[in-house]
Amino acid sequence: MKCKKCGQRASVNMPQHNLGLCREHFLEWVPEQTERFIKKYAMFTHEEKILVAVSGGKDSLSLWDILHRLGYRADGLYIALGIDEGVDYSVESQRLAEKFAAERGLTLHVVNVQEQTGKTIPEWAETSLRGRQKPCAVCGLVKRHEMNRIARDLGYDVLATGHNLDDEAAVLFGNTLSWSREYLLRQAPVLPGTPGLARKVKPLCRFYEREMAAYALLRGIEYIYEECPYSAGASSIRYKELLNQLEHDQPGAKLAFYLKFLDARQQGLFSAQEEKQLELHPCPNCGQPTSAPGLCSYCRMVGEFGG
Ligand code: SF4
Ligand code: ZN
Ligand code: ZN
Repeated sequence: MKCKKCGQRASVNMPQHNLGLCREHFLEWVPEQTERFIKKYAMFTHEEKILVAVSGGKDSLSLWDILHRLGYRADGLYIALGIDEGVDYSVESQRLAEKFAAERGLTLHVVNVQEQTGKTIPEWAETSLRGRQKPCAVCGLVKRHEMNRIARDLGYDVLATGHNLDDEAAVLFGNTLSWSREYLLRQAPVLPGTPGLARKVKPLCRFYEREMAAYALLRGIEYIYEECPYSAGASSIRYKELLNQLEHDQPGAKLAFYLKFLDARQQGLFSAQEEKQLELHPCPNCGQPTSAPGLCSYCRMVGEFGG
């Protein structure tokens, strides 16, 4: 394939868009597209303060790089989970996130879960899940709580995460298999903020995972290749494999699946009453918005198993 812009040999072939681009034009195309999605979904403006949740992986570092290139006011947040038994996953991802920030003169906030809560994520899983399940449920809860807390305390308007199309399509697939309307309801490129809760946005939600991998590689971004050791065997990975098979036979299928869901949403897939369920109230302990009656799940967990 040839580059559509200059006719030179394409470095990145994207049959899903019927498009090939050389290195230079691909590195221009990604931020252009990101800017288009930011505007289309009214994610944020140049005046707003953005906090990018950075894991040290290719997607979140690329997102930070792109927002920086586009001139947005974006700082980073790294949450040290303490997942290091035999793997150094957290130590290494933190090192890479810090290196990325230092090389570009960007501000990175680091929150250490153990210092903040008294336990690492595997330790929380050991006590609250009695070691019977993977720590992902606790990990998600703690990460969400810390991201919201930092965004609120430091006055950020928007919290941006690096979820790509493959992530979103896999979650959508899982939620569709079980027709879980409550989760489907929460899946969107933008979740509006409420007092005390920053708006949540996913500027990369329309990029294929391989497009983001190509971007990180061609931009020379150093990121952690290893996945978190607990991600092995997750259902989302199986869904990604299934969707990849589908995509292989039918380029563009993944994107169509996701975009048609967004269209259906816009055309009233959910009733106004269901949309209202998205409304939250503040947790009486930490003040963070929650849908649970009474204390939020984070405060319930800390109350029961902390100390
Ligand atoms: Fe946390 Fe690892 Fe599970 Fe991801 S895979 S939610 S980082 S424990
Ligand atoms: Zn070109
Ligand atoms: Zn709470």
